[in-house]
Amino acid sequence: MKKILLLSTGGTIASAPGEEGLVPKFTGEEMVKLIPELRGLCHIEYKEILNLDSTNMQPEDWLTIAREAYTGLKEYDGIVITHGTDTMAYTAGALSFMLRGLSKPVVLTGSQVPIESSLTDGKKNIYDAFKVATSSLKGVFVVFNGKIILGTRASKLYTHKYEAFHSINFPEIGYVEGENLKILVPPPENKEMELQFDDRLETDVFLLKIIPGTKPEVFDYFIESGYKGVILEGFGLGGIPYLGRNLLPGLEKLYNHGIATVVTTQSVYDGVDLTVYDVGVKALKTGVIPAYDMVKETVVAKLMWVLGHTRNLEEVRKMMLTNYCGEIIL
Ligand code: ASP
Repeated sequence: MKKILLLSTGGTIASAPGEEGLVPKFTGEEMVKLIPELRGLCHIEYKEILNLDSTNMQPEDWLTIAREAYTGLKEYDGIVITHGTDTMAYTAGALSFMLRGLSKPVVLTGSQVPIESSLTDGKKNIYDAFKVATSSLKGVFVVFNGKIILGTRASKLYTHKYEAFHSINFPEIGYVEGENLKILVPPPENKEMELQFDDRLETDVFLLKIIPGTKPEVFDYFIESGYKGVILEGFGLGGIPYLGRNLLPGLEKLYNHGIATVVTTQSVYDGVDLTVYDVGVKALKTGVIPAYDMVKETVVAKLMWVLGHTRNLEEVRKMMLTNYCGEIIL
């Protein structure tokens, strides 16, 4: 029988009403006891590593989770991580880079409704996560509402609906229906690499959504505050305005100060192409790095990880545009 480690970190799934709204309360063991279907599926051990609303999660917490998963993988056949949904996609992206070379599944799940509620989606999600954790899949996955999503491709699109997560610009890996696991697309594998715990992260990264009227002075703030990387959510294919309030000199300033700037888009699907419109081409000439089809949450985690390895802007570009775990298709 397979041995699976459940790492619990909090989130709605583990929450109960507190003095000022829902707060995480239940341990992994308490949650699993509510799911009799799990009996006989695998041997489960538990570790409560955090007890947070994932809104409060910091990149340092990703390190804690990655370290626990890495240690657990030496002894267990798979890892299930229960986690708040709000920042689960960021954690999934970060774990994908920090745990490259996985030969076992690391599965994140959570729920929209607390596990003790009669309307909870948490029991199904935990059961499904264990189904995936006991499978032969390799890599980091988000398992939610029956879907198996590659960790670098998940995004939370709904705040209430059970179907909280979508796989962005990449097919779903598969789904869990009842007791059956159906794999549609084999996840990308890193066959040459042994599992690594790579904990180098630069957390001084900012994400700015451009709106009509954004003032160019905002870029001075990034420089003064010591940010090492900036992600810009441009319009459509990634366009950055240059008429009226011209943002292009600000981008040049960032480049000249050695700050890596990545351009992503406010649109959810399809990604960025800065070669189509002049509002993209002009931005490209300032030295920005296009995010192409990468999911925003993964861009954040990847830029922190890349900047943890190099501050050389050409190397940052090269690494941002390298596909490490299915996060980018050029
Ligand atoms: N605020 C909660 C969290 O992210 C939401 C959830 O888990 O669904 O921890």
